[in-house]
Amino acid sequence: MKTKLTLTLIAGLLLTFTNFSDARGPKGTQQGTCNGTCQVTETPILTELETEHILWMRQEEKLARDVYLTLYDMYQVPVFYNIASSEQNHMNALLNLVNMYELTDTVASDEVGVFQDETFTNLYNDLVQLGSQSLIEAIKVGALIEEMDIYDIKLAIEDTQAEPVILIYENLMRGSRNHLRAFAGLLDAFGEVYEPQYLTQEEFDQIAYSAKETGAQSKGANSNKSRARKGR
Ligand code: MN
Ligand code: MN
Repeated sequence: MKTKLTLTLIAGLLLTFTNFSDARGPKGTQQGTCNGTCQVTETPILTELETEHILWMRQEEKLARDVYLTLYDMYQVPVFYNIASSEQNHMNALLNLVNMYELTDTVASDEVGVFQDETFTNLYNDLVQLGSQSLIEAIKVGALIEEMDIYDIKLAIEDTQAEPVILIYENLMRGSRNHLRAFAGLLDAFGEVYEPQYLTQEEFDQIAYSAKETGAQSKGANSNKSRARKGR
């Protein structure tokens, strides 16, 4: 109840603030240094590149979830189911960003294996086919997906200054590192050697053979960052 009231109050304040700035908009433009060329109320919050990364990662997290759900159906090994549910959380986190920045979502259908972008449809089919060869191959597919995620999230982080976006990416990245640890550990247990495709051998070893990281709720993104650096 209290939370609801607070939210209503905040919403009210935001509305007031919006009206206030709208009313001041034209005046500000006249008095400012814009000379009528800058659009005070239409400045985009995210760059095109930032938007592209968010929408891409939203599909990439769905790819991970869908492949793991399908591999779980094939082998009934819990690791796939557990990690798929984590990917669902990652999808939700990105959906929050999509809504927050009023973007057009690239996940139109929640159905497993259905993607808007053909790249992901092909990736899904290829990865499932690879994974269907054996359980070992399926676990290797898992490691490959996590490597790819880490690689792509790193690129996305490099291209953004937006704090809420960076926080979500850091969280996704930590999840991916933990997932990679899980798959690498299983491969180790099976006596399999995994050759990283997206990460260097050094990057892979650093992640795969370090301790599991805990969630974002208890620790800030910065402390995790410095912890990871110190851990080397
Ligand atoms: Mn993920
Ligand atoms: Mn993952």
